Formats: sequence, structure tokens, C-alpha cells
Amino acid sequence: MNFQAPEGTHDITPEQVVLWNRLEKAAREMFGRFGYEEVRTPIFEYTALFHKSSGETTDIVEKEMFTFGDPEDKKGTYSLRPELTPGTIRALIEGQLFAKKNFWKVWYLGPAFRKERPQKGRYRQFTQIGVEAMGSSDPLVDAETMVLFAEILKAVGVTAWELRINSIGCKECRPTYREALKAYIQPLLGTLDENCQRRFERNVFRILDCKVDAEKLKDAPKAMDHLCPQCKAHMAVVEKALQSCGVPYRVDPRIVRGLDYYTRTVYEFSSSALGSQNALAGGGRYDTLVGSMGGPDVGSVGFAAGVERILLAMGGEAPPPAPDFYAVAAGDVARDEVFKTVMALRRAGLSGDMDFEGRSVKAQMRSANKAAARYALFIGPEEALKGAVKVKDMKDGAEQTVSLDEAVQKLQGGKTS
Ligand code: AMP
Repeated sequence: MNFQAPEGTHDITPEQVVLWNRLEKAAREMFGRFGYEEVRTPIFEYTALFHKSSGETTDIVEKEMFTFGDPEDKKGTYSLRPELTPGTIRALIEGQLFAKKNFWKVWYLGPAFRKERPQKGRYRQFTQIGVEAMGSSDPLVDAETMVLFAEILKAVGVTAWELRINSIGCKECRPTYREALKAYIQPLLGTLDENCQRRFERNVFRILDCKVDAEKLKDAPKAMDHLCPQCKAHMAVVEKALQSCGVPYRVDPRIVRGLDYYTRTVYEFSSSALGSQNALAGGGRYDTLVGSMGGPDVGSVGFAAGVERILLAMGGEAPPPAPDFYAVAAGDVARDEVFKTVMALRRAGLSGDMDFEGRSVKAQMRSANKAAARYALFIGPEEALKGAVKVKDMKDGAEQTVSLDEAVQKLQGGKTS
């Protein structure tokens, strides 16, 4: 019987992990450069956390969570996290980190789970990488998160991306916009799909997110036309900062984001290199969320990006890094002698391998070539006796028999990185 991975999950094979590591390394470096610290939280939380934060009426919470545990339990059921923002905020509040400083810039990377219909770029287990900057209402922080993600994309060579931004206002100006939107949609309601009809009372803004009836809604009132002076000023600073950093963007009134907690700035990065699931990252400001979860009343902004989608945009696979050496057991040398030499080289900081399948010298040389090793090392009975190795430079074919110490020096000198 052959086992299969559960629907909507995928494996990261050694061929794919090279790109993954490249992305993770570039992101870590960029987060450090921008002053963000790493946090790690559990992959499941009490279900109530997501109801409170992500929002009861969102698709994610309504239909897409993997929930388990005993509903009779006093503390309720658990859910695998569909996103990482709620757990991150909970961790900072629970750990009383705001007592230490008011402004936290954190980042995370880890699996998220949504019971969605799987397709290319849309999985039931996927990986999110993201940031949360909590404790400031400064619009420059909104811009900083966007510049940061653009820099990560640049660092990994993804160029075909687009940034669309919008402002959905605050608790002062949102109600007026809500009414204007409802008045516009009311007469169309009977013609909209079932999902949108449900959203009308519960969360009318989400109707703008509708993929089915987009055409019917193209003239809907825009949040940007209903902003209060403070929200307008906020948006102006965000736009100016993006312009001054040379980050291209487009204002798009249809960006509303799928989660309930956003205020003011919302944004989405997408890529034309992907198919229908083309969103690379989504983010925005959430000025009331931390306070509503029992934390201080502070303004915050963040984004979450899909690692698998960025990898798709990076394209294909990459060869693993070439090792410094491949040790060939020549003649009828005792293999533990080769093993000893390989270990000494590895302890000296060199990377490389040897044959563990008892193959011929020719076959071992094929492995050295296939791995693109910088040097092939031959260890025969004679070399083993003298503690020496025959070093073959795989670039020019030159061979030299040297002591182990000399070999270490030579190989270290030949390192490319
Ligand atoms: P969201 O908060 O839903 O906008 O998610 C943020 C990012 O996570 C998206 O822009 C995608 O790149 C990624 N993402 C969301 N859902 C999935 C999924 N089911 N499979 C793969 N990536 C996803």
C-alpha cells in the first residue's frame, strides 16, 4: 500500500529546500536590518482567540479552521492557527512584554492551516512569514512594513510583483462609509451570489472582496472618498513615504482584506508570475485589535506572506551548495580510515562526503562529479599508512599528495564562500 500526503498538504523535498533556505536567510537578514525580533508561538490556540481577533464573520473563522478537543471543556476547543497574528499578539500580552517597552517590532515564520479547497498555491497547510509592529500609529511604520517586504522580494530575485494599497478608515469615518456602501448595494442584493448576501448584514465591506460579482460592484462607493481628515492625512504620509523610497504602488479601492481587524491602511502584494492564487502577502493597520484582546490601546500594523507562493514566484528548484570535497576510498583501504579522514576534515569546517555503498573508485568519482565537489580526495592503503591524502583539484585536474594538515589548509584556501 502506498501512502499519500493528506489533501492540501505538500512536502518540501531536498531539491526544494535550497530555495526555501535562501528565502528564509534573506528574510531573517532583512528583518534584522529593519529592527524586527523573532517570536515563535504554538501552532494551535484556544479557538476563542481566533473568534475574538480574526473575527466571527470571516471565511477563515466561519469555515476554514481545523478545530478539535472537547467542546464541553471549560476552556473550549482548540484550533490549528489559520494565521499567526492572533497568537503573536496573545504571546506579547500574556508575556507582559508591553511593560518592558511600548513599541515592539516582531516577525514570525511558521505553518498555518486552513480547510480550503486545495489548488496550485492554495494549501491546507502552508507557511506564513510576517511581521507585526505594535505600539505606534505613525504612518511611516505602515510604509516601513511595505518597503521591508519589497526588499525581501528583491533579495530573492522576485521582480514581477505589484503592490496595491487602500485605506478603509477608522471607527470615526467607517460608519458613514458602511451606510453609503449599503445604500449602493441594497438594490443589487438579489442579484449577488449567496455568499455576498450573507455578508451584507454581517460585514458589508467583504462584499467588495467578491470574486463572482466583481463587475456589478465596479462603481461602488470608495472608502477613500469617505475618509475623515485624520485618515486622509495618514494615507498621504504612507503614499509619500512609499514614493520617496521608490516603491511602486497603486491605490485600489477594492482592497478590503479578509480579516475583521483592519483600520486605515490595507495592502496586498501580488505576482503576475502566479496563477489565480496570486497574492504574495497581505497586511495593514489594526489600531484597535491589541486593546480589544486585553493589551494596551496601541496602534499596530503588520503583514503576512505565503512562503510557498514566494517560492513559486522565485521559480523552480536550485542545486544544493557544492561541497568542498568528496573522499574516494582507493584500492583496498580500510574504510574506517577514510571515515576518520572525512571526520577530521569536517571538524576543520570543511563540507564533504564519502561513499557508504561500497562502490568502485569509478563510481565514487562519478559521485564527486555529480556533487560538484571542489576537490576529490583519494585515500588508498599507502596514504592511510602515512596519514596523507591525494588531493585532486576538480577545476584543473592537478593532483598532489599532501599531509592531512596540508590538505585542510589547501581546501580552506579553495573555499568559494
Ligand atoms: P491572508 O491573511 O489570508 O491574506 O494570507 C496572507 C498570505 O498568506 C497570502 O497573501 C498568501 O500568500 C498566503 N496564503 C493564504 N492562504 C493560503 C493558502 N491556503 N495556501 C497557501 N498560501 C496561503
